[in-house]
Amino acid sequence: MLNEFKIFFIGVGGTHPTERHSPPSIAVKLDSDFLLMDCGEGCVRGLFHFGISTLKIKYVILTHIHGDHVFGLPSLLHTMALYDRRRDLCIIGPRGTARFIKGLVSAFPYYPSYRILIKEVSSGDSIRLDKYIMLFGPSDHDCEAISVRIEEIAPKYKLDQQKIKALKNLDSVEIKRLSMGEPIHRESSVLYPEEVAKYRIIPRSVVYSGDTRPTEDMIKFSKGARVLIHDSAYSEDLRDVAVEYGHSTAKDAAKIALKAGVDFLFLFHYSPRIKDETILLKEAREIFPRTALSRDLTFFRVPRKYIEIGSERVIYNLPPRRSHL
Ligand SMILES: [Zn+2]
Ligand SMILES: [Zn+2]
Repeated sequence: MLNEFKIFFIGVGGTHPTERHSPPSIAVKLDSDFLLMDCGEGCVRGLFHFGISTLKIKYVILTHIHGDHVFGLPSLLHTMALYDRRRDLCIIGPRGTARFIKGLVSAFPYYPSYRILIKEVSSGDSIRLDKYIMLFGPSDHDCEAISVRIEEIAPKYKLDQQKIKALKNLDSVEIKRLSMGEPIHRESSVLYPEEVAKYRIIPRSVVYSGDTRPTEDMIKFSKGARVLIHDSAYSEDLRDVAVEYGHSTAKDAAKIALKAGVDFLFLFHYSPRIKDETILLKEAREIFPRTALSRDLTFFRVPRKYIEIGSERVIYNLPPRRSHL
């Protein structure tokens, strides 16, 4: 289970840099691993702002190869070489990513001290690591594009330590199996996890839509996520423009958040035509109240979510107490 799951909004605008926003770029901290979701212009500066070394970036996920999502990449690769990066960098993206990266690194004088591994993925693919899984999902944009879901791999239950102690005869392997949701079979009885569990643990997760029109598939892909960061390029009065250019309105994003049952929605990828994002916020909150505006150079710690067994009470971030396993 991860200790830390934190989202850093580096740039939240769209299309081109503006006085108020950098183009899309989000860093995610999963304990000691850092991932980048898109790498818009100004990404390296944002990483320095947060004190995140470029050497710590393990994966760069590009949702698609549009300039606003990738123009930070030459600077990122260059900075990594200047700092004498030695570990491999893995760049993940939709079909066409390999051609783009190869063209990019051959186009500028660049002396890499590290290897770049490229992995092209499509909707339905996933990459599983020890503590988290990266899933790649649908997009309806005007080019090859993917969305991303990052989900921690967590035990199913938080056990009640007092009940565990009272049973006396459980060893550490059995306790772990119970927390993972497996029953323990004894000669004459079976101990089910629900008998000794205090909370169900809902894994922390973030879904990032990339650029997309609203789709039913995105609702399925975002189902039950803690955090949804969704394309909200336009307000309702510009709906025609959103449809034409492969984007969503803030209201579209809110409808998806509601139907997917996510906990928090962050509006993202504001068009430079939007001069006042509070209009987007107002339109979205009419449908989904737990909506926030993402802002450049801010971060969000994804909360743990627990459901108390019996009462079905939802609790975010239990206080650390010795009485819970
Ligand atoms: Zn874009
Ligand atoms: Zn785009």
